[in-house]
Amino acid sequence: MDNCIFCKIANKTIPAKLIHEDAELMAFHDINPAAPVHLLIVPKQHIGTLAECADEHAAMLGRMLLLAPKLAQEQGCGYEAGDGTAGTGGFKTLVNTGPDGGQEVYHLHMHVIGGPRPWAGQR
Ligand code: 5GP
Ligand code: ZN
Repeated sequence: MDNCIFCKIANKTIPAKLIHEDAELMAFHDINPAAPVHLLIVPKQHIGTLAECADEHAAMLGRMLLLAPKLAQEQGCGYEAGDGTAGTGGFKTLVNTGPDGGQEVYHLHMHVIGGPRPWAGQR
């Protein structure tokens, strides 16, 4: 996609603070972080929204989701499970879809938002 900002980041036409790259996905810091840790996990392939995903994307979507706790851990906002309790730490994962979902960039991406309860008071 010629005019897509995340395609441009994926093909290195414009820079980003990359923290992960593999054959399928990349992850980088959000340019306007809403919390101490604010990452975006993005497929290299251009897909506009979650609503445009199909069965063929299931494995990729699963890998996006599984990457989130790994990167959160690396960035200092991982979750430590408790022993039958809530545990400690943690982060939010978020996929905005469409105008009513608050989507601004129309290239599928998952937010990973962490830090000491950055969403407190804004649920
Ligand atoms: P959305 O509202 O579409 O779910 O989120 C888009 C996110 O992309 C926003 O949090 C915004 O700050 C981030 N963003 C927009 N343009 C850029 C950019 O050029 N580089 C980076 N790293 N993040 C961007
Ligand atoms: Zn794109």
